[in-house]
Amino acid sequence: MKAFEFQDIYTPLQERDLPRPQPREGQVLIEVKAAGLCHSDCLILRDETYSMIAQHPIILGHEVAGTIIELGPRVSGFQIGENIVSALISHPISNADLATAIGLGYNGGYAEFAIVYTENIVRIPLGVTFAQAAVAADSISTAYHALITEARVNDTSTVCIIGLGGLGVAGIQVVNALTRAKVYGIDINTRKFDAAHRLGAVQCATNLEELGHIWFDAIVDFAGAEGIAAAAASAVKAGGRVVLVGIGATEITLDPRSLVFKNVAVQGSIGASKSELEQVLQCIADGRLIPVLEEVPFADIPRGLERLEKGGVTGRLYVDPSKTA
Ligand SMILES: [Zn+2]
Repeated sequence: MKAFEFQDIYTPLQERDLPRPQPREGQVLIEVKAAGLCHSDCLILRDETYSMIAQHPIILGHEVAGTIIELGPRVSGFQIGENIVSALISHPISNADLATAIGLGYNGGYAEFAIVYTENIVRIPLGVTFAQAAVAADSISTAYHALITEARVNDTSTVCIIGLGGLGVAGIQVVNALTRAKVYGIDINTRKFDAAHRLGAVQCATNLEELGHIWFDAIVDFAGAEGIAAAAASAVKAGGRVVLVGIGATEITLDPRSLVFKNVAVQGSIGASKSELEQVLQCIADGRLIPVLEEVPFADIPRGLERLEKGGVTGRLYVDPSKTA
């Protein structure tokens, strides 16, 4: 099968012909119909500590949907021909297991075929495409968990989303699909503002100071650039929450007074639970949430990741590896 393999940080992704994997007990084999390109793959490509993956070489691609074509020995409850997406289960956080995380713990979806662990299987509801399901698994569910569960955004909230790439755009959509909250957006690239406004952002700006007249209940940072956490801690109201998702910078500096005097919480947020993915898929099936997607050819995965790295992408890039034949 055709696959893009990551060997180490000193070599670019390699297109390779590898044997089709065999499902073992507790696994199924899928024909991959959609794999989302994620900014964290860009980080993996240059992370000298290999801390985000459990093996290398590895086929990347952790937002993966497809059709079951083979069941492992003694696998029951699933049928060949079912359309599924592999959940990346991060919550409850004590149950998160990198070893069974597709494209991170073992070979993922930048390939024609991939193994999925049965405990991670979520059936794709009627009316949801493979591409929508794939990007729901990480980017939209991650935005959901950060905004609804950790930042506790509800109908009366005023919330600011920092970073209007795939996650930030999904975040605006999640908030508007589920609540009546007011959403503001921040990005250094003003070309992303039109899309953010169309999806329901009240106002966008290039930095928090421009929105200095607004007190936010919560600020969710999907970018993680230097200095943002401190600015966010100052810009939330008393009792407000700052939720960090992006890990662009390697260090944050916070004035303890900005947290203590206003009783501000700073919270990290990773991934989502299986039931959060199911809720996101239901929102897509209902038409309340329409993912912003752009298909790129399978052969263009490395170029797609370069585009993500440069930050010029609105919404989510994905490939359909079944079209390589
Ligand atoms: Zn990801």
